[in-house]
Amino acid sequence: MSTTEKMGFQTEVSQLLHLVTHSLYSNKEIFLRELISNASDAIDKLKFVALSDNNLYENDSDLKIQIRFDETANTLTISDNGIGMNRQELIDNLGTIAKSGTKAFFEQLSGDAGKDSELIGQFGVGFYSAFIVADKVTVNTRKAGESEAHQWVSDGHSDFEISTSDKASRGTDIVLHLKSSETQFTNRWQLQQIITKYSDHISVPVELWQDAIAEEKDEDGNITVAAQAGKFEQINRAKALWLRNKSDISDEEYQTFYKHISHDFQDAATWTHNKVEGKLEYTSLLFVPQKAPFDLFQRDSKRGLKLFVQRVFIMDDAEQFLPHYLRFIKGVIDSNDLPLNVSREILQDGAVTQSLRKACTKRALDMMGRLAEDNEKYANFWQEFGNTLKEGIGEDFANRENLFKLLRFASTQDETGNPTTALADYVARMPEKQEKIYYLIADSQTAAKHSPHLEIFAKNGIEVLLMWEPIDEWMMGQLHEFEGKPFEAINQTDISGELFQTESDETDDSDSDKDQYQTLIENIKTTLGDHVVDVRISKRLTKTPTCVVLESGALSNQMQRIMKAAGQ
Ligand code: ADP
Ligand code: MG
Repeated sequence: MSTTEKMGFQTEVSQLLHLVTHSLYSNKEIFLRELISNASDAIDKLKFVALSDNNLYENDSDLKIQIRFDETANTLTISDNGIGMNRQELIDNLGTIAKSGTKAFFEQLSGDAGKDSELIGQFGVGFYSAFIVADKVTVNTRKAGESEAHQWVSDGHSDFEISTSDKASRGTDIVLHLKSSETQFTNRWQLQQIITKYSDHISVPVELWQDAIAEEKDEDGNITVAAQAGKFEQINRAKALWLRNKSDISDEEYQTFYKHISHDFQDAATWTHNKVEGKLEYTSLLFVPQKAPFDLFQRDSKRGLKLFVQRVFIMDDAEQFLPHYLRFIKGVIDSNDLPLNVSREILQDGAVTQSLRKACTKRALDMMGRLAEDNEKYANFWQEFGNTLKEGIGEDFANRENLFKLLRFASTQDETGNPTTALADYVARMPEKQEKIYYLIADSQTAAKHSPHLEIFAKNGIEVLLMWEPIDEWMMGQLHEFEGKPFEAINQTDISGELFQTESDETDDSDSDKDQYQTLIENIKTTLGDHVVDVRISKRLTKTPTCVVLESGALSNQMQRIMKAAGQ
């Protein structure tokens, strides 16, 4: 006999539910996207496990998603005959949040509804979005291959109830008991519009219930509308989006698909869709998000593409197809050359994987190259992913040339102070006698902007690239030259060359300077003792009285700090 057990949500879930119901209200229809997306994922997962155990189909391999509504009861039901969940999975999946980045997400919440709803969008609420429109949700589910079915019920506050259920068919029914205000979700025409939008790219049929229609006759007794029994009608085209022709796919369809695979609420910044035939046969569809995920710099963050082999879903987060520095790219790869039983281990060192990885990397870099043609979009991209891309300079030698084109720096020539200068821009602006690309790394944007080292460069009208990100020191250590022009840190550079006109070049009073300041210099040397190697009169500065320079070959300030932090 069935016993009902009451369980509390993990604290974070209760918090999230509260946020969802209070701040996603203006965008409520997305709950359908999330639930259809989950149903489609469940069917993909069943197909995958059934590859090795065909019995799991239990004589029902007609996989589909069905949606029905009941105006009188004010309910909406989303059903799938996918993999289903057992009791423990219900508790784990619908009672906790197991995502990486959860802690960071909750820490960043501000209490400001507008800002927070954007954050929630980025975080992804998935199943819990049902509570935007429902005040009670029932999940009835039986896992493929198991005999017992279970029911989960909650009002979306602090707890849920689990009991056994008599559901006989495999898969999951999600019943939303809609809030009394949400009548549009039991209106067939409105439902059809929303569902079409969110399901056209889904590769299995999505069917919507059509009520019975009574026969209609005109005055002469001729039948004008034939009577129809109630039935399910397929409302999507049920063809995987990436298999369709590019020219037939609208931007909106790409964006909806992006949200389906990435769980992002925001549109993608751009994408690249390619079908390749020949020695290697594959289709790839790669997206650049607009916002970096919370866990971009976390070690255990999920990354990689959704892998299909001959149109069968194989796995999420296949990270073998892109280098680590492109971990923010989302997308799908569908290969005809990999075996259906491919595992992560096989992928690891396969020749096909290597070729696909090379191809996907190139596609991704080309896509960003095209994005860079739009300054505004690229500035946003750079702010979100610039530091991640910089990792590529040391990681990906083969694509260096392409990566160089994607780098952006702040520059003394650009008043905004934002990183918008490409290396090619810098080189194009170099005066003929200048041979090096000058740069300065400081601790912060402000420190960079006001560094006394810049004075002599400003005076001579020589542009300097400014950097202040922790990764810059490391990156510049890997960069030696661009288009034959060596890079040089300005706090290590020799300014005696003809490029630099100093005050004293004009008046030539350097000897008298020396005599005049000899006592001062001796005093400073005595005071600073071992802390400095030497104290010299300099022509570098025009406004600031003193500055610290490094001996050439010495460890930079940032490097010294990094070593110190590492305990050396
Ligand atoms: P996500 O889809 O990002 O994993 P969700 O909150 O949408 O997050 O869903 C949480 C989990 O609940 C899913 O990962 C899945 O394991 C499970 N789940 C949700 N809906 C279904 C379903 N219709 N069939 C089977 N499992 C489901
Ligand atoms: Mg989901």
